[in-house]
Amino acid sequence: MSQTSKEIPYKIYLEESELPKQWYNLRADMKKKPAPLLNPGTGAPMTLDELSVVFCRELAKQELDNDTKFFDIPQEIFDFYKMYRPAPLVRAYFLERALGTPAKIYYKFEGNNTSGSHKLNSAIAQAYYAKQQGLKGVTTETGAGQWGTALSMACAFLDMDCQVYMVKVSYEQKPFRREVMRTYGAKVTPSPSNTTNVGRKILEEFPGTGGSLGCAISEAVEAAVSQEGYRYVLGSVLNQVLLHQSVIGLEAKAAMDKYGVKPDIIIGCAGGGSNLGGLIAPFMGEKLRGEADYRIIAVEPASCPSFTRGTYAYDFCDTGAVCPLAKMYTLGSTFMPSPNHAGGLRYHGMSSTLSELYDQGLMEATSVEQTSVFEAAEQFARVEGILPAPESSHAIRVAIDEALKCKETGEEKTILFGLTGTGYFDMVAYEKYNNGEMSDYIPTDEDIAKSLAKLPKVPGEN
Ligand SMILES: *Cc1c(COP(=O)(O)O)cnc(C)c1O
Repeated sequence: MSQTSKEIPYKIYLEESELPKQWYNLRADMKKKPAPLLNPGTGAPMTLDELSVVFCRELAKQELDNDTKFFDIPQEIFDFYKMYRPAPLVRAYFLERALGTPAKIYYKFEGNNTSGSHKLNSAIAQAYYAKQQGLKGVTTETGAGQWGTALSMACAFLDMDCQVYMVKVSYEQKPFRREVMRTYGAKVTPSPSNTTNVGRKILEEFPGTGGSLGCAISEAVEAAVSQEGYRYVLGSVLNQVLLHQSVIGLEAKAAMDKYGVKPDIIIGCAGGGSNLGGLIAPFMGEKLRGEADYRIIAVEPASCPSFTRGTYAYDFCDTGAVCPLAKMYTLGSTFMPSPNHAGGLRYHGMSSTLSELYDQGLMEATSVEQTSVFEAAEQFARVEGILPAPESSHAIRVAIDEALKCKETGEEKTILFGLTGTGYFDMVAYEKYNNGEMSDYIPTDEDIAKSLAKLPKVPGEN
């Protein structure tokens, strides 16, 4: 790959004047669009009016818009972004040296804000549109806690009420996350709870359950539609979230363009697909328009392998089946990833935009085992200084593996990966790893077949 002779600094920052002023909607450049959300009752595509019952109207519009290429970033959101953006693009010189690789490694670091991850990029946008609509507040779910934290910060800034249903095991095991949310003014309820019909039903059926993300989503949606002036917001998976997260890729590309650098390989971890969708957006756009080619790799945990072992089909987004049906790579909405698995990336499905791109062969996916992820995390922390989130470390693992391949072949490939966040709140997982107590549970084909057997029947589809 040809590069200019300009010396690449350790960190490439953009000037304030160089920050993206618009989000980029990747769907506009897709010839075959992602499949529409369906009404679970009628099987027909969800309309704007139907979606607006659950989501803010402006966000519902963004969700359904497959054609508008650029959306202006409202000034108030842009101003908020300036508190923690641009996120640095780092040339991982120290990691390259430690690996002895001829590869050139870059990472886009999204952990430079109190919530500790990229989720704030969409949280502020969603809270903003809710406020614009004159709403009182928003409801949501959180698992590991990053999304709830990000949303609490955004709502505090805009003086909006924020109600978070937190998966009960996390609520009990992650008191620090919970208290950060409460410090920013959010009301945090352990899920399942007796504050909703769906919560009471689940508690009756499974007394003593630690809860799940799918169940917390059902409760948050019910809370939104049953309170005047509230809507539901979601931190990943949806098209609107990928749209907001495009700021990651737009900044990364602008920073690389400044130095004439072009990545050969782009790597990101994939839970619901929002950081990866955002990171790759402008690069995938070039690929779709036939202007450039990139190898793009989604990395998922071997314990929750939606892309690599799931099926491309319509499925429920939540356990309570109150949300629209989405066509995606899925393990089935009843799939329960092993409790041994640390951190996020535990969602059964995947962004429908990324699912369609993957189905068209425009990107690859690979799965990695947990102990090898923490090995990579530790190696990275010791040379690059940043303590990475376990989720982000999935991408580090594959970036290191690709760089080591270059060492064998002598190829000087340029690798870009997304470092989505920091791992300070994941020290229980790090402790397990340090004590040699971490395990690599991989679901059997039977486990997956069992949950896939419960996919909904959709005429003309599944
Ligand atoms: C939520 C989260 C992820 C995974 O979510 P995506 O929507 O797939 O990006 C990855 N890294 C961190 C730090 C997160 O908080």
